Amino acid sequence: MVTNQEPNDAPTNTSRRGLFRALGRGVQGAIVQEYGHLVNTRRPLGAVEETLFQRLCNQCGNCVSACTQQVLVMTDTGPVMDLTLNHCTFCADCITACPNKALNRLAHLDTGWRPKISSSCNARTMGNCEECAEDCPIGAIAIEPDVLPMISDACHGCGVCVSSCYIGALTMIPAEVYQRTL
Ligand code: SF4
Ligand code: SF4
Ligand code: SF4
Repeated sequence: MVTNQEPNDAPTNTSRRGLFRALGRGVQGAIVQEYGHLVNTRRPLGAVEETLFQRLCNQCGNCVSACTQQVLVMTDTGPVMDLTLNHCTFCADCITACPNKALNRLAHLDTGWRPKISSSCNARTMGNCEECAEDCPIGAIAIEPDVLPMISDACHGCGVCVSSCYIGALTMIPAEVYQRTL
């Protein structure tokens, strides 16, 4: 278990190999070989690297329409995930809805967001709350008396904990921003 200050996990070689297999021909293959290990953190779940994403995504909006959690919004540059609105269930409906493989099941299944906990957290101030830890679907939150809850590096950024916190002490921020604030 690590603290809320633990760096994000890195993309895996498995993601890269998967992308190679899926898009391993022609120009797409060349792009993936160069960038396939990277994952675009603000795009919908399963997004390929940004340069490739911009080539593949035609901004059809299918992913946005498919998301019953309504955490995807269309912008001038294409769809993005906004976990301030709700949490992601990892249903993968957005991935299935993408006709162009801009969202790809083989990409790293991590939203790229992380929870940041403010000092107003009741577990820290009064020691009487464990709501987020109880609701985290993978048990990535540990509560200790009088300190901020600890987030393990198993966190995959679903945002369920934000929905659980009744005093709004949790916010989701992009993982790279999270790392810079450690
Ligand atoms: S995985 Fe499901 S809940 Fe998450 S962004 Fe995609 S459609 Fe929405
Ligand atoms: S609920 Fe989701 S975002 Fe929150 S700590 Fe658990 S895995 Fe991470
Ligand atoms: S639910 Fe909110 S107040 Fe309760 S322990 Fe988690 S962050 Fe703190």
